[in-house]
Order: sequence, then C-alpha cells, then structure tokens
Amino acid sequence: MLLLQKPLPSFTGSLVLLVQHKACKLKNHGRFGSDTKFSGDGYFQKHLKSGRRHFSKSRGPFVSCSLVPSTSELSDARVIYCVAPAMGHNQESHPESNFRVPAIVSALEKMELSPMFRGSEILELHSFSPASVEDIVSVHTKAYVSGLEKSMDQASQKGIIYIDGSGPTYATATTFQESLLAAGAGITLVDSVVAASKSSQDPPMGFALIRPPGHHAIPKGPMGFCVFGNVAIAARYAQRVHGLKRVFIIDFDVHHGNGTNDAFYDDPDIFFLSTHQDGSYPGTGKIDEVGHGSGEGATLNLPLPGGSGDIAMRTVFDEVIVPSAQRFKPDIILVSAGYDGHVLDPLASLQFTTGTYYMLASNIKQLAKDLCGGRCVFFLEGGYNLSSLSYSVADSFRAFLGEPSLASEFDDPAILYEEPSTKVKQAIQKVKHLHSL
Ligand SMILES: [Zn+2]
Repeated sequence: MLLLQKPLPSFTGSLVLLVQHKACKLKNHGRFGSDTKFSGDGYFQKHLKSGRRHFSKSRGPFVSCSLVPSTSELSDARVIYCVAPAMGHNQESHPESNFRVPAIVSALEKMELSPMFRGSEILELHSFSPASVEDIVSVHTKAYVSGLEKSMDQASQKGIIYIDGSGPTYATATTFQESLLAAGAGITLVDSVVAASKSSQDPPMGFALIRPPGHHAIPKGPMGFCVFGNVAIAARYAQRVHGLKRVFIIDFDVHHGNGTNDAFYDDPDIFFLSTHQDGSYPGTGKIDEVGHGSGEGATLNLPLPGGSGDIAMRTVFDEVIVPSAQRFKPDIILVSAGYDGHVLDPLASLQFTTGTYYMLASNIKQLAKDLCGGRCVFFLEGGYNLSSLSYSVADSFRAFLGEPSLASEFDDPAILYEEPSTKVKQAIQKVKHLHSL
C-alpha cells in the first residue's frame, strides 16, 4: 500500500505533496518513476463534461488559443480574468480550500468589480481550454504528469488520496483535470493580453483566479498544495507560442516559489524574483541563490525578516524590483500573486496589508507599461484568510482600473507593530550588492 493516510500537520511545518501511485513503483520520497507510460490521449473527451464552463479539446503545443476575446472586447477591457475554482479538489478544513476562489468572486461582486457592474471595462473569460499535456510537460516530467493522471482512478475509488513526504497534500478524483484547467486559464490570459497589446499600448491586466496554486510544484512532482507550476507553464508558453523571449516573474507570495525557481535556475531568459518570509516553508530561497550557469544572476531571492510589512515592500519595489526589471528588459511580466503575506493570514507572519497589495498591483501594472507594452498576468497563489485574501484581490482590481484604493476600509493600523527596519535594510543592501543593483 503506497498511499499513506496521515492527518494534516500544522501549517508551520513543511507540506510536501507527493502523489504515489502503484505505477510509479517508487519509494524515494515521492519522486515519480520513469517507468510510468506517458499517455494523455482521450483524457478530455472522457472527463471534461461537468461544470458551467465550456471545455473544448485541449490545445496543441504550438497552436495559439482560439478563444481569446475579439479585438473590440479587448480594447474596452481594463482587467481580464478567468475563474477556475477547482471545486472538486478539496479537503475539509484544509486551508487551501475550495472556498478561496468563490470568496474572491463574491468580494468582486460586493465591491462592484465584476462585468455585471462595470460592463466591458472588466472582462471575464468563460470559455477557456484546459492546458494540454504538452503545455504541462514544458515544465514537468512526463512521468509525473502521467502518474498523476493514472492516480485519479484510485482517488476516485477512495475519494481522496494522500502522499508521503514531509507532509501530505491531497488529491481527489478531479485534481488532474482541475489542475489542467488552472494552467489553461493562465495560458488563455497570456493569449489575451498579448493579443490586446498588438493594438494598444495599455492592454488589460490579466488575473487568473485559479487553484490549485503552482509555485511550489517542482518539475518532478507536486509540492506544498501545488500541483502544476501555473506561472512557469505560462512563461514557457509565452516564449514558445508568442515568441516573447524574456519573461520576468515576480513572486510576492509569503513562501519561496521553489518550483518556479528550480524550473528556470539555469535559464538566462526567465528572470525569477521572489520575496518571501525568511525561514518559512519550504526553507529554500536564500539570498545567495542567484541562478546557475548561464542563468546566474537571473534568479533573485530576497528573504524578508518576520514582521516586514508595507514600508519594507515599498522599499523593495523601488530599490530591487524596478532596477532588476529595467535591466532585464522583459517582453512580459508574470506574477505569482500570493496573499499570505497579509498580516491577518494564518500561515505566516509578515505584515502586508490590503494597501500593500494595492501598491504592488498598481506599481507592477506601471512597470509592465513602461517595460513590456503592458503585457502582464497575475496568477493566484496563496492566501488563506478568506477575508484578507478576497479584499486584497479586489483592491488589486481597483489598482488595475486606476481607481483609488479602498484599503482604509479594510485595514486596521492598530493591529500592526513596528517593522524590523534595520534587518530589512540589511537584507536589501545585501541583495543589491549581490546583484549589482
Ligand atoms: Zn504561500
């Protein structure tokens, strides 16, 4: 019996999701075996029938998505988003729950930030394809993808499966298909902002409201609530399909995006910049992890001390993110947008506020406008307090629209304590020195 049923650990510990399957015949901590046979054929016809969204046959690896909105729809839109809530991928009381995306959608409605209230200014894409297996294997091994797909039968029989490792994450009968859909949403948004940028200097900002998240998933397997590396897959897709050679990825989730880091560690054309809480899961992303070989210098990791907040992140943006991006000269900016750095988030201890996320959204939009024709897509990663998550995303939408922040309605300055400014300054100085910024 390879499936280990374990209780969910406390979330301060490491949470490696490692799906084991009979076909994998592996015991080396969940790495998938190369003896699994790769086969994605016929999957979609069999499985993708439910849900309110229309699914078409998965796109081929070199075919641009045909589901992007029309030029006139794109020219009116200021924000374009997809919703892939993975309602079947859920475990009761798990923080990475299927309440997360609906909570965001509900906040958008409540704050009148949906198409119903804004007409063509805010566009939701309803018809988007799941990513193809070919898209996924641009980042992950075929053995992993195949193993996960095959494990769905077992998950279907058992309802939920857990994987061994330093902590279990779950998979249910729909995990594979819903993870493909999450990655596909990101890809479709890339298609849309690229299409819009051909006729406008100010294309809409994209936001993939998706789960499961992706930035911990490593090439050979899932990890830390993450199944497929949505942002990494979109980066490879942007290069391959749209010829956007240079991709700048900003990851402001409170945890290190180790999966994205690993996928591009030796790649000079994809710059990965991660800010995260020092010492948090999974423990990688030290300041001296700067890339390897020809990719040396194209990975920037900035661990921030616990308690860092709005002041720290504004300084990081101005002194680290902006000069790094200016020097790199990207063709598109992709963002791993995690909201678990919020002061109210239960999984970490930074002190970001709704206002911090508004600032990041607004500044990143401007950065994309200045450097890469406004091409930019946000991807939802973490964020486990449903209230701070949903209002922070909603205020990010307001930033994209160029409207004032409503953060003062949600943030309570009384709960904040003094930021560790000396330690923050030291970290920033060190990273600037290491990267000659
Ligand atoms: Zn996180």
